[in-house]
Amino acid sequence: MPPESLPAPRLDWRTKLAHPDAAAPPGFRSLVTPVYRGSTTVFASAAHVHDHWDRRETPYTYGLYGTPTTLELAARIAELEGGGLTFIAPGGQAAIALVDLAVLKAGGHVLIPDCIYGPHREFSDRWLSRWDIRAEYYDPMIGAGIAALLRPQTQLVWCESPGSVTMEVQDVPAIAAAAHAAGVPVALDNTYAAGVFFDAFGHGADIAVQALTKYIGGHSDLLLGSVTVRDEALYRALGDAQQLLGMGVSPDDCSLALRGLQTLGVRLDHLQRSTLEVAQWLQAQPRVARVRHPALPGSPGHEIWKRDFTGSASVFSVEFDAALAQDDLVAFIDRLRLFKIGYSWGGTTSLVVPQFSLHRDLPRAGRNLVRFNIGLERSDDLIEDLRASLARLPG
Ligand SMILES: *Cc1c(COP(=O)(O)O)cnc(C)c1O
Repeated sequence: MPPESLPAPRLDWRTKLAHPDAAAPPGFRSLVTPVYRGSTTVFASAAHVHDHWDRRETPYTYGLYGTPTTLELAARIAELEGGGLTFIAPGGQAAIALVDLAVLKAGGHVLIPDCIYGPHREFSDRWLSRWDIRAEYYDPMIGAGIAALLRPQTQLVWCESPGSVTMEVQDVPAIAAAAHAAGVPVALDNTYAAGVFFDAFGHGADIAVQALTKYIGGHSDLLLGSVTVRDEALYRALGDAQQLLGMGVSPDDCSLALRGLQTLGVRLDHLQRSTLEVAQWLQAQPRVARVRHPALPGSPGHEIWKRDFTGSASVFSVEFDAALAQDDLVAFIDRLRLFKIGYSWGGTTSLVVPQFSLHRDLPRAGRNLVRFNIGLERSDDLIEDLRASLARLPG
């Protein structure tokens, strides 16, 4: 509290622009979290001035660590994932990098499933190596066998389940049990499950990452990521890293993610149903060798999906007949009208992207791999679109 107030001076209109007396009437109550912007956070007194990221001590000291809009999104992701505390990052890839930079140290070793998201692999191979950290890739179906790969230098085990594009469902509880027996934390990229179809912490993960860009955003109009932890030491390491990296996010994007959360339930219910309809239809087509969708029998890790997941999402991959030329598959994709060609997924529009040159150590899928994302269109229309284009493949 200021010890004494000076009498109010008469101010020039220019000064008034920064120090107005006018304001909107108070008392507005809406269902929506306002977009609070701010770099500077005003302190009540000079004695209170300090700069710290830990919202539990002082929620607001500088805009970098979040405004009420950011921290509400963080709290809601933590609640949804049943975690402790969540950090919001500028994207899913930023969230992954944040975890690595917070946890790994020079001379360390990190285990990563061979099915990991492509840019995650690039970061591990090209950047972690700069700091003398070794990334080793393991068979995503390894389960308890991960124990044999753990070394004294191992600092982190990553899981991504199902894996990007090849869709292997991992035995996270078995991997976590082996890692924990060696004192190594487990980070899970839980983007596919939207933080809800797979209980990361209940199944042994210590760090849960999501690209909020996908289902939480839900409309292909923002990039955000999240990192959720329960453990105090991990919380401190992540908060410290986020501050030092200056990894702030826009409250506008957070506001869009909060809007996305309101419809997450109905979108996922719809997407689950219509994606299964399209995937099952594709599975029955003669030019399709195999559909990689965790809820379909025969997809890698399907039994584990049944045991551990409470739902399936909108993204899956199709292995086309190995006899088809890739040019013919390119033409098949180009003929589709409703499926737009592009990266990312989880929005309202169906998407398709060829995956002919997937980087994998282990041969996992045929070379004629195509990834689909189902949107909110009627599944009948999507199937008709696919049927029309498939019919023109050369016989
Ligand atoms: C999309 C994606 C990411 C990266 O998210 P961005 O927000 O695009 O950076 C990370 N992991 C998985 C599994 C993803 O699908």
